[in-house]
Amino acid sequence: MKINGFELFLVSDGTFKLDGGAMFGIVPKTVWEKYFKSDEKNKITLGTNVLVIKSEKKVALVDIGIGNKFDKRLEEIYEINRKKNLLQDLSEKGVDRSDVTHVFITHGHLDHTGWATMYNHDKIEPTFPNARYYMQEDTWKEIREPNQKTKPNYNYLNFENIEERLELLNGDEEIFPGVELVKSGGHTKGHQLVLLRVGNRTFVYFGDLIPTSAHIKPAYVMAYDLYPMDTFTRKKELLERAFEEKWTLFFEHDPSVPVAQLVDLENYRLQSLTI
Ligand SMILES: [Zn+2]
Repeated sequence: MKINGFELFLVSDGTFKLDGGAMFGIVPKTVWEKYFKSDEKNKITLGTNVLVIKSEKKVALVDIGIGNKFDKRLEEIYEINRKKNLLQDLSEKGVDRSDVTHVFITHGHLDHTGWATMYNHDKIEPTFPNARYYMQEDTWKEIREPNQKTKPNYNYLNFENIEERLELLNGDEEIFPGVELVKSGGHTKGHQLVLLRVGNRTFVYFGDLIPTSAHIKPAYVMAYDLYPMDTFTRKKELLERAFEEKWTLFFEHDPSVPVAQLVDLENYRLQSLTI
């Protein structure tokens, strides 16, 4: 959609699969199964919805998919399925990787940072040669100082040779007029959201704080979250504002409802939107 000098649209890096139980934490399967069908291994199919924010001189991407640097083992685990990858989808929609000026990274997990880098023959290079990459300093710390629990969530090839591209933030910051990165914590310590205010409208990209529309209820927290009570509290307060101010909500991992509006705060009922 076009709004006040901005163009907003979603692109995708395909789908992948994760364990349905892990995606829904304490939510019983009999409940989450109404939203997501699981396969014989109990896995569910998730999207990789990347938001593009374009203005006259800027092209910002919000998260950057899974990328193409997986080895055989990771490919088997995540069962990536795509007819086209993120770069191909961008180029079909008129964006070349050299056009990108800003890459906003919600957090460092491998399904959010895949295209930070790519192979050029045998060498790993930043995929977006003219972009600065924005993440919270805590995210960079979490990437560099993993433990046995957090290490499998990162693909270290995504961070090779990008250090000089990084803009590390400490808390909330407006990056350019209308676009604010908001540190939420919860899923990881450094997790951040993207808030876009244009005219009288507000758009929010939740990242993994609310990965799919089926996670809209504050207590529906993924088992992956490192700080689940923070996820719960931030969701609750953000959704109150989202309801009152009629925000447009983006869900990064929802393969069928990527955009919606909260129309009933008591029952957390959503209405699907297109942009
Ligand atoms: Zn994720």
